[in-house]
Amino acid sequence: MKGKLLAVSGPSGVGKGTIVKTLIKRRADIVESVSCTTRLPREGEAHGREYFFITKEEFARRIEENDFLEYDEHFGNFYGTPKSFVRDTLESGRSVILEIDVVGALLAKEAFPECILVMIAPPSLEELKRRLKGRNSETDEQIETRLNRLAYELSQKDKYDFVIVNDDLETAIAELESIVDGKAKS
Ligand code: ADP
Ligand code: 5GP
Repeated sequence: MKGKLLAVSGPSGVGKGTIVKTLIKRRADIVESVSCTTRLPREGEAHGREYFFITKEEFARRIEENDFLEYDEHFGNFYGTPKSFVRDTLESGRSVILEIDVVGALLAKEAFPECILVMIAPPSLEELKRRLKGRNSETDEQIETRLNRLAYELSQKDKYDFVIVNDDLETAIAELESIVDGKAKS
């Protein structure tokens, strides 16, 4: 049986990474696509695990070679989903989760109409700010830029197949799992 492709989006700091990483740790038949990016690694990030950290030149070459399912620019850096990895993994029967922004997710659905779109929403703006600050990985200015995108991202939620409010973490993980298993109602 072929696996499912899911794109999981939502504002920076909403908990996408936490939800997706916990689920794939529990389920060997679900994997996360590793994107390519031109941004520098954050502390603790490893090449080939969080991202493939590549140069702008290499990124441009791979665009030319049509090697991305979708790609986009955020905060001055490029991010893209390698096509061959997604195709091979789905063929092997495993499901693939893409953790990408709204624009990238809509592009992925265009390229791959079976792609299921899942939006993770915060319980409140205050809670989102608290999580972003608590993560301690961006400056105040970077946090401000990320919050400025929030309204736009949430305004696209009608285009999504599912919306999960990440209030209680375990509930949110269970909701994502039931979507992968085809047991959730949209
Ligand atoms: P994203 O990948 O969407 O940018 P992260 O997964 O890095 O977000 O989460 C941002 C911060 O919020 C992290 O410090 C994480 O531990 C915390 N977090 C995630 N989900 C919850 C939750 N349901 N309740 C409280 N804190 C959470
Ligand atoms: P970060 O730098 O915080 O890891 O990611 C910044 C933004 O890039 C996030 O909104 C994230 O969802 C998005 N992103 C990560 N990988 C990809 C990708 O492969 N394609 C697209 N379009 N966006 C991505």
